[in-house]
Amino acid sequence: MTIKLPLENLPNTINIRGLSLDRKNKKLIFNSSIGSFKYGRIIRLLTRKVELDGNIHCSYCGKVLKNNEIFYNRIYPREVGGIKIPQNMLITCSKCNKNKGNMTKFEYLEYINSNEKQKKVIKQKVKKSMEFYRKERAYKIPKTWIEYININTTELKTKLLKINNKKMLYEKEFYEKYEYFITPIIINTQNYILNGVEKYKIAQKEKLDNIPVIIIENIKII
Ligand SMILES: [Zn+2]
Repeated sequence: MTIKLPLENLPNTINIRGLSLDRKNKKLIFNSSIGSFKYGRIIRLLTRKVELDGNIHCSYCGKVLKNNEIFYNRIYPREVGGIKIPQNMLITCSKCNKNKGNMTKFEYLEYINSNEKQKKVIKQKVKKSMEFYRKERAYKIPKTWIEYININTTELKTKLLKINNKKMLYEKEFYEKYEYFITPIIINTQNYILNGVEKYKIAQKEKLDNIPVIIIENIKII
């Protein structure tokens, strides 16, 4: 299944060089000859939602947030495959961002509504489930989001992104330890890698065939 970015959340002016909105075709267009591709900024822009009262609230505790108090937190955390797409992001305050840790949104909602004893049980359950996912080399995100592509027959395009050495090291260590990637690679329907080029490099080096990807359908690279 491909995933559509929720473009209805976009403000009228997009403040990212090279990025524009084709309103008629409901597509984001990124002109790679104009700017460098800022995937994280695009996702933050699409995640940011101003509520009816004109404020931005923490999605969990409801606290009204000033601009410099906003955290972008994953519904399914990275540790269980949670990728950075708006469908997996919520705005939180710093406290909820910190306390949520490796919990999913659903686990965290249960956690904040529990007493101290129940909280301990939930934390223990989360830890156990993490171990399960590592062992099974699985992801906790909805299965329908993930596709597997054969990189011998489908070459991915890497030109949007530079390798980040710190990320590379982290991804490599994770791969060597657990023999899978912590999150799928994010690509568009033209096979451009939008996020996770480091994993693709590792996959090529390891001569892997099938790799997990998340395919976004409404962002076009020109
Ligand atoms: Zn909060």
